[in-house]
Amino acid sequence: MTQHYLLSNKSRTLTLKDIFRLSEDEAFQILKINRWGNSDEVVCPHCGIRHKAYFLVSRKRWCCKHCQRHFYITTNTVFAFHKLSFVDLLAAIMIFVNEVKGVSAITMSRHLNINYKTAFVLCHKLRETLFKTRDLSPLQGEVHEDGAWINFTIRPANFRKTRKKQIDRKTKFPKFRPTKRCIISLNQRASNDDNLWGSNRTIVAMDYTEKAETVLALNHQFVKQGSDIMCDENPAYNDLDFHYTRWTVNHQECYSLFGASNNLAESFNARFRDLHRGVHHKCDNKYALHYANQAGYMSDNRRKSNGDLFKDVLQRCLWVLPLKEWVGYWQGNHRMTELLGMTAFSPEEISQSYFKNMNEIMKYELAA
Ligand SMILES: [Zn+2]
Repeated sequence: MTQHYLLSNKSRTLTLKDIFRLSEDEAFQILKINRWGNSDEVVCPHCGIRHKAYFLVSRKRWCCKHCQRHFYITTNTVFAFHKLSFVDLLAAIMIFVNEVKGVSAITMSRHLNINYKTAFVLCHKLRETLFKTRDLSPLQGEVHEDGAWINFTIRPANFRKTRKKQIDRKTKFPKFRPTKRCIISLNQRASNDDNLWGSNRTIVAMDYTEKAETVLALNHQFVKQGSDIMCDENPAYNDLDFHYTRWTVNHQECYSLFGASNNLAESFNARFRDLHRGVHHKCDNKYALHYANQAGYMSDNRRKSNGDLFKDVLQRCLWVLPLKEWVGYWQGNHRMTELLGMTAFSPEEISQSYFKNMNEIMKYELAA
């Protein structure tokens, strides 16, 4: 019997101990290497020119030779205007990637001995960074699709008299809350991969219901024509027959019949529910998609070591621009709208700088 990947020591390449042993200068160097690569050259965030800028050691600040402006290691990153130490920021990422089902802000605040409000914003910054830098290239091959309901149950009222009013007499079933939403997920099965069995890419969207228009628009944008789509017998998926081969499974009878199942989507739903109900207990619909995307990210990268995950999340944090909803959150600067339907894929929800910077580092590493 082969050992499960997560039990092997290949899956543990970095620990919290390693992070907390770092001095502030060493943590600074880690940030620098992950942002600009392993050389003396840095990229000015103001004018974008890569060169050996003048470095003022006492301030940990560079001065650009071309535009004469100053910048720090966190300028124009998600950690801009940070007050926590570099070691704490790295430790927060480490805790974040070690928790497959997410980490609550309270836990984070206890681990790092920081205020709950600080931890709340920090966790959300990491979550939104993953969201803005998610891979949206089209899925292909076998794609499993399903919807999961969130925030729908009415909590029973305190007193029995008022509780009866909330129950629909005809159906004996509680009426749904107006905050009820559906998380629709598209899961691509890994192919030609010896290490990974199951889904390797997940794209999520949210809507009031599992609407036919949203499902169609999602598939047209993110699934290549001719792919095999596996779903349940929800009529919302009927329109997909024109461009795709669609397989359905009747969930009243079974979950898998003659090889047709949407179990990758059901598996994602289970992971997401663990994260959503089990750890966070509740969330605002404005941020629900960020939680779903985090569950998708952790699930897609379940066969990566925690050191690789740490590096990946850190680089994404350093490549994404400051998040406008999370700067000054407790001063009242909040996201105003939910990401319903295709609005989640509008240009402002996708970080362009991530891909631009990744190309730049690739170019540099190839030349070196
Ligand atoms: Zn400059």
